[in-house]
Amino acid sequence: MTNGFFGKILWFDLTEESFRESQLPDEIFRQYWGGYGLAAKLIYENMPKGTDPLGHEAIFGFFPGLLTGTVAPLSGRCMVAGKSPLTGTWGDANVGGFIGSEIKKCGYDAILFKGIAKAPKYITIIDGEIQILDASDLWGLDTFETEQKLIEKHGNVKIASIGPAGEKLSLISSIVCDKFRVAARSGFGAVMGSKKLKALALKGNKKISVADKSELLKYTKEFNTKARNDQSGAMYTYRTLGLPFLNVSTGLSGDAPIKNWGGYYMRDFPIDKLNKISAAEINKYKQKDFGCFSCVVQCGAIMKVPEANLEETHIPEYETCAAFGHMLLNDSLISLFILNDLCNRAGIDTISVGGTIAFAIECYENGLISNNDTDGLELTWGNSETIIELVKKIIKREGIGDILADGPKKASEKIGRGSEKYAIHSLGQPLPMHDPKVYKSFGRTYAFEPTPGRHTASSLDHFVTGLMRNNKFIKEFILPKGYRKSQSDARYEAMKMCAGLHQSLSSLGICFFTYWFQTYPLIELIKTIVGWDLSIEEIIKIGLRIQTVRQAFTIREGVILAKNELPGRAIGNPPFEDGPHKGRTIDYKPDYKGYCEKMGWNPENGYPLKETLNDLNLDFVIKDLY
Ligand code: SF4
Repeated sequence: MTNGFFGKILWFDLTEESFRESQLPDEIFRQYWGGYGLAAKLIYENMPKGTDPLGHEAIFGFFPGLLTGTVAPLSGRCMVAGKSPLTGTWGDANVGGFIGSEIKKCGYDAILFKGIAKAPKYITIIDGEIQILDASDLWGLDTFETEQKLIEKHGNVKIASIGPAGEKLSLISSIVCDKFRVAARSGFGAVMGSKKLKALALKGNKKISVADKSELLKYTKEFNTKARNDQSGAMYTYRTLGLPFLNVSTGLSGDAPIKNWGGYYMRDFPIDKLNKISAAEINKYKQKDFGCFSCVVQCGAIMKVPEANLEETHIPEYETCAAFGHMLLNDSLISLFILNDLCNRAGIDTISVGGTIAFAIECYENGLISNNDTDGLELTWGNSETIIELVKKIIKREGIGDILADGPKKASEKIGRGSEKYAIHSLGQPLPMHDPKVYKSFGRTYAFEPTPGRHTASSLDHFVTGLMRNNKFIKEFILPKGYRKSQSDARYEAMKMCAGLHQSLSSLGICFFTYWFQTYPLIELIKTIVGWDLSIEEIIKIGLRIQTVRQAFTIREGVILAKNELPGRAIGNPPFEDGPHKGRTIDYKPDYKGYCEKMGWNPENGYPLKETLNDLNLDFVIKDLY
């Protein structure tokens, strides 16, 4: 076995009810790491162009980061990837918890699925034994019930499952891991549901060997000790307040979209309402910290909310609070717990559901749908009881819920009558809860990332709110001078560097929040775990290779991202007449051209140039694109 990884992939064919292992050469991991990178390489090569993402030939899988499963700080992330049924592009989602580390403990670097089972199935890998089992008694259960049953039956297993939303092929459905961590975006709940795959239940006992254990422990201890001693910085805030620490400040700054991206706090969601859903209010219900494998920060929390009859639920993250709070002018704190719990149990993406309900309220307000369409529900802003009822309908695909269950784009296609102007999305994916009018470079990533409409992409302006601003995140990673200047060569170079670093870090399994915490000994950790002595330039280049394969996948599907347009409200076109965005319009397109030129992609259509593909050893892409 190689240090840090096994080189072993587990492939399931659900149609055949069979599985097989394959061994990959070390060089693949050296060029693609794990996570998004390994996913891009394997899925691009094995899934034909134009595959129906919900069909027999569709391949999707779970890909732990390359360092996942080791003690390296904050390295426990796992990625789900394939073709998104929501956007028709490359799709992926990044999830924490314990599923990634357990896949590694089972001795695999990835688990992939193709085919469609004849009846519901679940997979167990327990102490080396692999089984495909009947899930007919699990089908219809929510994710919490599913976990409970599987733990009762199989003991201390780590679980990834879908709920009713995924079973009903909602294109905004998610995969829920260990109850409280969610691969939420891109619609993979529906992919799993289409394969009639209810859950994975894993328990492994394999050890990951590392190149230099004492040095690894030294770097890990240094990082973790500093983190534990942090009593006032970002890690302290994340640990004590969780992500809702953003709830009030983002409302005031305009970063949180308000009233379906058409409002602003002074007029629509003033400070007294924002304060009702503040982190301080939310954390009154906290029982204990919760977090991912190998993370000292533990930014999650387990809550008990008697007013909602919730004995054990997870803290609603910022994105959830904003999607059901700010976006819908809903200041009911208790409803945020209920909505978060409902969505996690059903396996559906909170950002997308909030965005879809905002769309429905505007359609109702403007007479495009009426009580006849909503089974009598009066869809008005801030009405938490109605919002909860509507979410239940979406989960069950009941009445109007059936129309809304695939997100606002599909719903507007069904409703027609000009409703598309209220659908705020990028190629079908509802936009996340950060406004490009505040962090301009979200314009580029929302519109043009290979999997569009994502905030966990390499948005330069967002990254440099963290340690990168002072070049203190990774000591060898230095942004070019002058990168803040709009449309400058330095800015485009910085965008490229960040894209490469971001893809590498994710594919190594490292949490996105690390950018805000403390200097990360990246080069040292790779060396002590895998034994590779890589420069920062090599690490960035691996990330650029991954980003280029993701891009090529989306292009091969016939999607020309360069033609994608963001909704006017997201970019201030026309500009707001008042509020924090007054008079501000974001021109995000020049950024894409400049970024493409630096990436070695054609700025007109985003095609990676032949010489770029050659330089990145991507011959298998050349034959498709040229
Ligand atoms: S900071 Fe939070 S999301 Fe990131 S690894 Fe730690 S617990 Fe998980």
